[in-house]
Amino acid sequence: MAEPLLEISGLRTGFDTHDGTVPAVDGVDLTVHAGKTLCVVGESGCGKSVTARSILRLIEPPGRIEAGTITWHGDDEPFDVLALPRDDERLQKLRGGDIGMIFQEPASSLLPVRTVGAQLIEAIRIHTGMDKKAARKRAVELLAQVGIPNPDQRVDAYPFQLSGGMCQRIMIAIALCADPALLIADEPTTALDVTTQARILDLLRNLQAEHHMAVMFITHDLGVVAELADEVAVMYLGKVVERATVEELFADPKHPYTKQLLESVPVLGRDRGRDLPTIPGAVPNPLHRPKGCSFHPRCAEAIPGRCDIDEPPEVVFDGGRTAQCVLYDDGQGGPA
Ligand code: SF4
Repeated sequence: MAEPLLEISGLRTGFDTHDGTVPAVDGVDLTVHAGKTLCVVGESGCGKSVTARSILRLIEPPGRIEAGTITWHGDDEPFDVLALPRDDERLQKLRGGDIGMIFQEPASSLLPVRTVGAQLIEAIRIHTGMDKKAARKRAVELLAQVGIPNPDQRVDAYPFQLSGGMCQRIMIAIALCADPALLIADEPTTALDVTTQARILDLLRNLQAEHHMAVMFITHDLGVVAELADEVAVMYLGKVVERATVEELFADPKHPYTKQLLESVPVLGRDRGRDLPTIPGAVPNPLHRPKGCSFHPRCAEAIPGRCDIDEPPEVVFDGGRTAQCVLYDDGQGGPA
């Protein structure tokens, strides 16, 4: 396995409300390895995006990071991102420099009143110190690299003159402008039609190989996971409930939530004429977490008297994959 590039340990991020603190991320442990793709998957509201934003400390009040460490190994000396003072230059270097980020809605991430070139050139100049002329040349090169046709003309276009797919390519170009070691992509294809989505995924795969960068890809789409991932983390209600390589996860899912998610994906030819299984119920309000395993009200394999009482331990299997579930617990933290 490649070297760790980013290690998240015990991350807790909450949002203060009148009714109490909502624990959006509740003790997450994750590792992104250099040059590899980690897909973080789960239903809406499970804490995927908040985890990603916590890495770059982009959590605004009433949200706050309450605990944990986020260790960046990309520099000579590893450091904890959460321990850095707000004005530390290593934090500025991480944001948009060592770590690029692309968001779900390209149209709302680009300023409508400035040309895409101006926004790209500004990012290039901040992170590389190039003069205006060199940055414009680099901007045109980057637009060509992300597949924008006629890049020397499109560089002067406004976002509203471009399609959603093209705007997402511009966002990718901005994220890549400083040649990051890690690209965090937060549901970057959700707002796009399937054809454009496939093209953007191809583009990301090619760019990853070309730039040798790691990718943390956040999605609710298991089809995307199968296409892109080396490793997968499945999140439920602010926790990582299963971690495995993509082959392990699809061939032998351990956690009942993962199994039920996989069963609810249609398979071409197999599911004709039959109702697709769904996961019963809905994700509970995180302010009122069920006691014990928070998945137990929806779990097909829940053990009454145990799953509704005790929080399940994280079981580590041979090879390092994990699942938070009593079904695999031998009582000593190992697989049963
Ligand atoms: Fe289901 Fe119990 Fe495992 Fe939770 S701990 S996933 S309720 S079997």
